[in-house]
Amino acid sequence: MSSAERYNALKGIQDIYPPEIYIWQEVEKTARDVFSTYGFQELRAPIIEPTDIFVRSIGETTDIVEKEMYTFSDKAGRSITLRPEGTAPLVRCYVQNHLYNLPSPQKFFYSGPMFRYERPQKGRFRQFYQIGVEALGSSDPKLDAEIISMLKLFFERLGLKELNYDVNSIGCEKCRPDYKISLLNFFSDKIDRLCPDCKRRYEYNPLRILDCKVDECITLKAGAPRVIDFLCGGCRAHFDVVLSLLNLLNVPYEINTNMVRGLDYYTRTTFEVTTKQLGAQNAVAAGGRYDRLVEEFGGPPTPAIGFAIGMERVVELLQSSNKQDIPNPKVFIATIGAPAEKESLIIANKLRENGVWVEIGYAGNSLKSQLRKADRLSSDYVLIIGDDEISSGKVKWKHLSDGTQGEIPFSEVYDFLT
Ligand SMILES: [Zn+2]
Ligand SMILES: [Zn+2]
Repeated sequence: MSSAERYNALKGIQDIYPPEIYIWQEVEKTARDVFSTYGFQELRAPIIEPTDIFVRSIGETTDIVEKEMYTFSDKAGRSITLRPEGTAPLVRCYVQNHLYNLPSPQKFFYSGPMFRYERPQKGRFRQFYQIGVEALGSSDPKLDAEIISMLKLFFERLGLKELNYDVNSIGCEKCRPDYKISLLNFFSDKIDRLCPDCKRRYEYNPLRILDCKVDECITLKAGAPRVIDFLCGGCRAHFDVVLSLLNLLNVPYEINTNMVRGLDYYTRTTFEVTTKQLGAQNAVAAGGRYDRLVEEFGGPPTPAIGFAIGMERVVELLQSSNKQDIPNPKVFIATIGAPAEKESLIIANKLRENGVWVEIGYAGNSLKSQLRKADRLSSDYVLIIGDDEISSGKVKWKHLSDGTQGEIPFSEVYDFLT
């Protein structure tokens, strides 16, 4: 290992810096703007939590808990986990702080890093970012439809239109047991041919066989019973209203009966937004109802629903659509000589006080190299100040993209540029 490699970031963990960071900021800002029009407010839960929070909520036999969590002991021997997802910490916070006493539904959004020890592959990182929302305290199917159409508005604002909206209902604790039995019957003579993960899923969590991506399992699940055929009256009615409201709101959804989601806490509505543009790793957002989770954490019965958006994939989609707005300085002040350098600091300060992005030359660079820098930064304007300009009281300006130029008195620079 060379000394340079020795100081590299951890495997599977990426740095994010300009110009790509501007796409991230655009996505984050769009999410805030759109979600706030639906009344979602920001909630910041910690990145580390007691391990039990995740084991209890996500489920002991899920891939996340079994294989992927960053779990370690702190100095007092407590088991700590870096959050692998955002829902469990938010629900823990909701219960611990009695937020259920506030008017329902309470609507929150969060954004930040999540951590999973996965095999590094293209588009997958061990520290990855999600923006998510959770609405707690209502089982009204209006909320389900509203949240899915909010997601659609978010993607449209970003200019991403060719996305698929898959929806499903995976029932409740009343109707799912019957479905599980029928699924177990279906796979009982196929266990030997299932992948090792699905062999275990057969024992602990047979629904998850349905979203296995291994070829053999995909073949084997053809003709499997469909969860929506087993829904109880309540779940069926709920799902039907969700679908009719999605029609009303012009969400171009498809029912995908294989989409069961990887976490144990989901009930009723589940949904995914997918794209074919990124190859096999194709979900850009996913979510669902979790009507029992608040109770699992010791809170009162509180039906809830949420989703999470995978930032890396949305950023990748925006990059591939070449839709990138890189901000640039408005003014570059090039100077010749010490008096001009001082003057440039005064002008720069005043412009910055008025919210203008100003760059100046450093270290006595030649005029030529300063102009080259202004060009590389794609500055809108260059101001040129030398001894002549100081004595005449006028500054030379040039608009870099259209080539127009002229001279204005120092006192008019501010009006000219702001
Ligand atoms: Zn049900
Ligand atoms: Zn499998």
